[in-house]
Order: sequence, then C-alpha cells, then structure tokens
Amino acid sequence: MSEKNTDKRHIAILGSTGSIGTQALEVLEANPDAFELEVLTAQSSADLLIQQALKFKPNCVVIGDEKQYKKVQDALFDEGIKVYAGADSLAQVVEMEEIDIVLTALVGYAGLRPTMAAIEAGKHIALANKETLVVAGDIVTDLAKLKGVNIYPVDSEHSAIFQCLVGEFHNPIEKIYLTASGGPFRGQTREQLALVTKAQALKHPNWDMGAKITIDSASMMNKGLEVIEAKWLFGLKNEQIDVIVHPQSIIHSIVQFEDGSMKAQMGLPDMKLPIQFALAFPERLKSDFPRFNFLDYPQLTFEQPDPKTFRNLALAFEAMKLGGNQPCILNAANEIAVDAFLKDRIGFLQMSDIIEQSMQKVSFIQKPNYDDYVATDAETRKVASQLIKKYE
Ligand code: NAD
Ligand code: MG
Repeated sequence: MSEKNTDKRHIAILGSTGSIGTQALEVLEANPDAFELEVLTAQSSADLLIQQALKFKPNCVVIGDEKQYKKVQDALFDEGIKVYAGADSLAQVVEMEEIDIVLTALVGYAGLRPTMAAIEAGKHIALANKETLVVAGDIVTDLAKLKGVNIYPVDSEHSAIFQCLVGEFHNPIEKIYLTASGGPFRGQTREQLALVTKAQALKHPNWDMGAKITIDSASMMNKGLEVIEAKWLFGLKNEQIDVIVHPQSIIHSIVQFEDGSMKAQMGLPDMKLPIQFALAFPERLKSDFPRFNFLDYPQLTFEQPDPKTFRNLALAFEAMKLGGNQPCILNAANEIAVDAFLKDRIGFLQMSDIIEQSMQKVSFIQKPNYDDYVATDAETRKVASQLIKKYE
C-alpha cells in the first residue's frame, strides 16, 4: 500500500455524478498538487461513475443502486479500484482512514446518514447537501462540535457569509442577508404560477443545477432551506436571518456586524469557487474562473421577497420558528412534492399545499433524537404521498 501524501487534502465526493460533484472534479483536476481523490459515489449513473473512476483513479467507489454493482465492478476490477454498493456502504466508506474531507454533493435526506457517519469518524465536511442541516441541524452541529470537526459551507450564499467572517470569528454577527435570485418566476402572480410547466420551472436564469434544487429555486423553497441551513452553520437566532432578492446573483450574501458595517462577497455565479474555497480553506488557490466586469453589470438591484405568492418561503420560516422536527417534516414533504411535480402528478402551487398540510398532520416532537428524525421523515413521506393522491 502506498504511503499517504500528507501535503495534499484527501477527498471523498459523495454524489460525484451530479452538478456539484462534476464541478468538484473539475476543481480537483485543475489542482493536482492540492488534492488527492479517495472516493467517488453515485446513486444510479453507473456509466458516468465508471468514466470518472477510470480517469481519477480513486481508492474506491460506491454505486447506490445495487442492481448496477456488477457492471461497475466489472469495469473497474482491472484498475484495482474497490467497488461497493448500497446505502450502508456509503455510510461506511466515509470512515476510511485516508480521507480528510468529505464533500456531501448528494441530494436530499439521503445525505444525513453518511454525513453523520463521516463526522463520527472525525472527517471534516464540505457541505453542499443542505437538506442534512435542515432535517437535523441541531444534532449534526452538536456532533461536529463534539468531534472537533469543521463544516465548510459549499452553498454559495453560506460560502459568502463564511468568507465575510474570515478574520471576524470573534466579532458577533448582528444579522445576515441571504441573497436570492428570485428564480424564473420572479414577479409572477399566483394565477400565473398555477399554470407554469415543469419545463419552465427547470430553466433557472443564473445557475445550472440538479433538477431538485432547480425546482426548489423556482418555488423559493431553496431559499427557505438555506435560511435554516444558515441558522445551524452560523449559530444564529431566527430573527438574525433575512432574505433579499437580488436578480443578478452577483452579491452572494451579506453579513452585518454590531457596528453597523456590512461585508458582502461578490463574483460571477460559478459554484466552482465556493467548492474550491471549502476544500482548500484557509487557502485561496489561484484559478482561471472568469472574472467579473463591472461594466457588464452597471446595475445591481434588490427587492423584497414575496412570501405570499411564494408560500414555501413562509412555510420554511414557520418550520424554523416551530423548531423540533418541523423542518424535517418540511423537507420530507418538499422532497415528495417536488418529485410529484417532476412527474407531472401535481401542479406548481400544490407543492406548497402538500407541505403545509403535512406540517399540520405529522406529530410534533420538540426535542428529537436521530431515530425520531428517521421516523419523522418516513411518516411524512407516507402522509405527503397520501395527500398527493387526492390532487391527482
Ligand atoms: P444532482 O441531482 O445534480 O446530483 C445529485 C448526486 O447525488 C448524483 O451524483 C446522484 O447520483 C447522487 N444521489 C442522488 N440520490 C442519491 C441517494 N438517494 N443516495 C446517494 N446518492 C444519491 O444535485 P446537485 O445539484 O449537484 O445538488 C447536490 C446537493 O448540493 C443538493 O443538496 C443541493 O441542494 C446542493 N447544492 C447544489 C448547488 C448546485 O449548483 N447544483 C448549489 C448549492 C447547493
Ligand atoms: Mg444557494
């Protein structure tokens, strides 16, 4: 076995075939002296996973879909790359001794278990999978503190806040403003939203992302999830978090300090920057990402969000205020609703109806433990699926 090169950060990428995962691999490829790849994982895109593994030669790969195990194993056997399958393997590979940082680039509730396992094993986390903090932010951040593990944000808004806080970690935050593009339906009425199609919702004006987060951005649920994510990442009270719509997506978020000073982080919308910052912190690696030109953006504008039209944003604030397992319910109901919308089973506005009703129906738990979160997620999925049948 080869000696571990300690000058490099050794990285595991969970969800390497997605939008964040593939961009993370571009960052690794551009910085071979900074990073060493240990693990790649995917749920069902076996062909792309094989292609990535042949190119980047990780120590091991995990394919979530067990039916595709043989295909991946056959393709990588000669390379000496270990192949595993299934959700249990995902939670196990993150414990590998060689790994320094686990990039959680998988989507949805499925991120919770491997993230907890990685923290338990003392690995730092580069967190793209915001759902993990929405579902169980209290126990995830408590465990990270206990294990002395850092959670580096990858989400562009949270990376912006984190970048503004460098050198300020002892200065209390008065308030943060998370910026939101407003998505493809900014300014539309509920009557218009009732008629929008899946194809329209999948077209984001500024970012090219996976399907689930693209729908979340169109419905403003993404910003709602990010509000809860920010609460846990930065230890904030609910009233310290505000949202401001900024359609150009150049200012990625803002911190206001107790002397009234505001720091913002800006740049062209490109997820490679926050991914690289999270993986290389505290260093800023030289990059060839396109540079911002002020004259291309003579006007940066700001608007109040409209939670009456985009009810998911109001529901997320409500879930955060109620606390306990409510954000977990919000998240699970949203995952089911987005999936149903993507399958043309329900309309755009019905997603909020399903989430709101699920929040009322599923039993409230004030101080959930890990098993309570697992049970809440399962119960909510059942409740939300039943509700969807009524709308079909
Ligand atoms: P994506 O759909 O493009 O990719 C998801 C990845 O996760 C794929 O590799 C897929 O194989 C894997 N995956 C899916 N379901 C899985 C499961 N059940 N178990 C294990 N692996 C599974 O998603 P994305 O846009 O890259 O987003 C990933 C995460 O990053 C999400 O939580 C999203 O909210 C967050 N995020 C994304 C962006 C972005 O620009 N795409 C920006 C900020 C935050
Ligand atoms: Mg974001």
